[in-house]
Amino acid sequence: MSIDFSMENIKKCLCMRCPVQMESQCVKDKEKIMILMTQQDLDSPMRMDEERVPGLYCSTGKAICKDINTHQICRCNECSVWMGNRLDKKETSKYFCINGKAK
Ligand code: SF4
Ligand code: SF4
Repeated sequence: MSIDFSMENIKKCLCMRCPVQMESQCVKDKEKIMILMTQQDLDSPMRMDEERVPGLYCSTGKAICKDINTHQICRCNECSVWMGNRLDKKETSKYFCINGKAK
């Protein structure tokens, strides 16, 4: 089972509002680029390649940004992608930014 890397799921993902990432400069920089891209028409998921998106780790695997604070609380269990895909039933059900994609 794999989670779609789609604009729909990027919008639902809570990683960018998660305390684990809140203070990360690397995440803030990626977020700025994403906002610029979406403002310029780029609805195209083609332009939103995985490395540019600081989230949806259940689909893409571990975070590229290394300045995240993994002592904070993961918000995956509040997310509709998580609920829709029954990620609570997976071997690893949270902290996909550290543990890698959902399997
Ligand atoms: S996977 Fe969980 S801990 Fe990691 S950024 Fe997303 S919501 Fe936060
Ligand atoms: S389950 Fe976690 S990593 Fe996956 S979309 Fe939701 S908040 Fe993001």
